[in-house]
Amino acid sequence: MDSIHLSPRLKTVADFVPLNARLADIGSDHAYLPVHLLLNDKISHAIVGEVAKGPLDNAHHELKKRHLLEKADVRLASGLSAIYDEDNVDTVTIAGMGGILISNILNAGKQQEKNFETLILQPNTDEINVRRWLTTQHYQIIDEAIVQEENHFYEIIVAVIGKQQLSDLDLIFGPYLRVAKTPTFVAKWQKESERIALIFHQLAAAGKSDTDIYKYWQLRYDQIQAVIS
Ligand code: SAM
Repeated sequence: MDSIHLSPRLKTVADFVPLNARLADIGSDHAYLPVHLLLNDKISHAIVGEVAKGPLDNAHHELKKRHLLEKADVRLASGLSAIYDEDNVDTVTIAGMGGILISNILNAGKQQEKNFETLILQPNTDEINVRRWLTTQHYQIIDEAIVQEENHFYEIIVAVIGKQQLSDLDLIFGPYLRVAKTPTFVAKWQKESERIALIFHQLAAAGKSDTDIYKYWQLRYDQIQAVIS
C-alpha cells in the first residue's frame, strides 16, 4: 500500500470523504489517506494530526515526496486538538485505531467544544463504543461499510450532526450493515460465531454449561444467528 494505491480499508474511508471537504485526518501516521485525497483533487487542503513523533515524521516525509507540503498542515497533537477554529474543518477522519480510543478522542474534543459536520470513523475493534458515542453526542449515522483484508474485518461508520435512536442490534451490528447484510458482513459474524462455539466447548469441558457466562455467550450466539440468517 502507498498513497496512490490505498488498501481497501483506507480506500473505503477515502471514498466517503465529501468532495471539497475541509478535512482533518487524526492519527494519520504515513498520511496516505490525505495525500491520496490531495493527489486526486478531492480536497484542496488537509490537517494531518499525529500524537507521536515517528508517525509525524512519516507524514511529513510522504507529503514532501509527493510535493504536497504546501497543501497540508502537519501537527503534533493529541486527537482533535490538532484542529484550530480558523481551519474551518468540516470533515474528520479517524481510522485504524481501537473504538474505545476513537470514542475517547471524540469525547475529549467535545469537551473542548470541537464539533464537526461529518465524521468518518474506522474502528479496528469495539465498534459498539463508537456508535454509542455518536448517538449519545447528537450525531446520526448516515452510512456504513465493511471490508475484509486477509483475516481482518473493518467497519467504516459515517456520521453527521443529527438525531438518531439506535436499538441494541443497531449498536452491535450497525444500522446499515445489518440491513445490507453483505457477504463480508456475514463472514465477519460467522467467524465470531465460530469463536463463540469454541468458548462453548471450553465452558462445557470445565463443567460450566449452566452458568451466567455460558448464558451470556448463548444469547450473543443466538443474536448473531438471527441477524445473519
Ligand atoms: N490512520 C492511519 C490508517 O488508518 O492507516 C494510521 C493508523 S495507525 C495504526 C494509528 C495512529 O494513530 C498511530 O500513528 C498513532 O500514533 C496515532 N494516534 C494514537 N492516538 C492518537 C491520538 N490521541 N491523537 C492523534 N494520533 C493518535
